[in-house]
Amino acid sequence: MDSSSELEAENQKLRQQLESLLREARSNEDKMRRFEQLEHRLIGARSMADLLRLLLNEYRQSFGIDSVTLALLDRDQETSGLLDAERPRDDQAERAQLDGLTLLHSLTPIESLFKDLSSPSLGPFNESLHRPLFGTPSPALASVALLPLSRHGELIGSLHFGSTDPGRYERAAGTQLLQRLAAIVSVCLDNALNHERLKRAGLSDMLTGVHNRRYFEHRSQIEVSQARRYQHDLACLFLDLDHFKSVNDSFGHAAGDAVLQRIAHIIQAQLRAGDTVARFGGEEFVVLLPQAPAQHARDIAERIRLSISAAPLPLPGGEIVPISVSIGLAMLAAGHLNGDSPSLAQALVHDADRALYRAKGAGRNQVVCSGMEPSLHEGLSSVR
Ligand code: GH3
Ligand code: MG
Ligand code: MG
Repeated sequence: MDSSSELEAENQKLRQQLESLLREARSNEDKMRRFEQLEHRLIGARSMADLLRLLLNEYRQSFGIDSVTLALLDRDQETSGLLDAERPRDDQAERAQLDGLTLLHSLTPIESLFKDLSSPSLGPFNESLHRPLFGTPSPALASVALLPLSRHGELIGSLHFGSTDPGRYERAAGTQLLQRLAAIVSVCLDNALNHERLKRAGLSDMLTGVHNRRYFEHRSQIEVSQARRYQHDLACLFLDLDHFKSVNDSFGHAAGDAVLQRIAHIIQAQLRAGDTVARFGGEEFVVLLPQAPAQHARDIAERIRLSISAAPLPLPGGEIVPISVSIGLAMLAAGHLNGDSPSLAQALVHDADRALYRAKGAGRNQVVCSGMEPSLHEGLSSVR
């Protein structure tokens, strides 16, 4: 080879190197841009469920990762409660979107994975160590990146990326981006949890801990929409304690408060997980029973009434407070659902309230069903 062709070959090699470096720089730039976009969306996520969907689905798609899973510490089942409350029932698609999430009662399954809480752990897939994190079925993974999530120096969960490419997550690879992602995800999870707590505090009744009227109004519209969509029955109970003023007069306001707390508890104990109970105000409670046909709703109302009149309500002083409840029941029956959801929800509660009024007039301590008088609202069915 003469010196000019040597130079030419050298030149070509350098050009190829340069092109490859440029390609890599462009790909890194593109990766960085997608990462920053996702970062903004994580920070802007409005609810816990949105945040989890972003992490478990969009991140995986955007970065072409074969498997993404997340384990979160949920000792007192607060997170699972929040997710259940947000998730409409019967929505399989919604449920599937949170596939890959595991809520842990303790840190035992993940704490041994990390030497320190600030650095992700990268390396080859290990069947016995990593299979529990990714579950089955998952693709035949060859390398993994495990990101510890921590707040205030404590482990709160871990995010797991799995790849079928053994070279994707190598032990020696740089982990700056993953480290940054772990820090952001940790803060976002903590924020989402705090935000949900605040939201929940604004929707709960301070005295009894059940939902408040604001929540009930919101929830009743959702339940009416669901009942229409899936052609389910929906029952509403309106409860008012009998002669409650005399409880306050005889035993004092603090005793009255204790009785209200106990009553909320008794009502709740008679309901299923998907039912809703709220304190409407004062000594009045409302209950929504989705998918409950009239006879079933009537039985539940009767059970609540009996358990209240049968329950001894002892006060700290030892006195037993005699207490009873009057209940109005109204139904929104499947298939007769004309009108918009907010007005149907309002009409349903109004009908239950009118039935309650009649229960009071008829002597109290009883359940009266709506429909014994002409209903003003189309779509509200009679209960016989
Ligand atoms: P009725 O059988 O007709 O429903 O009689 P009542 O005495 O229950 O009805 P009324 O509406 O006259 O009185 C309701 C009482 O409930 C008046 C009020 O002192 C009491 N009350 C409302 N909110 C609270 C509360 O938060 N704590 C306590 N202790 N009492 C309450
Ligand atoms: Mg009242
Ligand atoms: Mg009352």
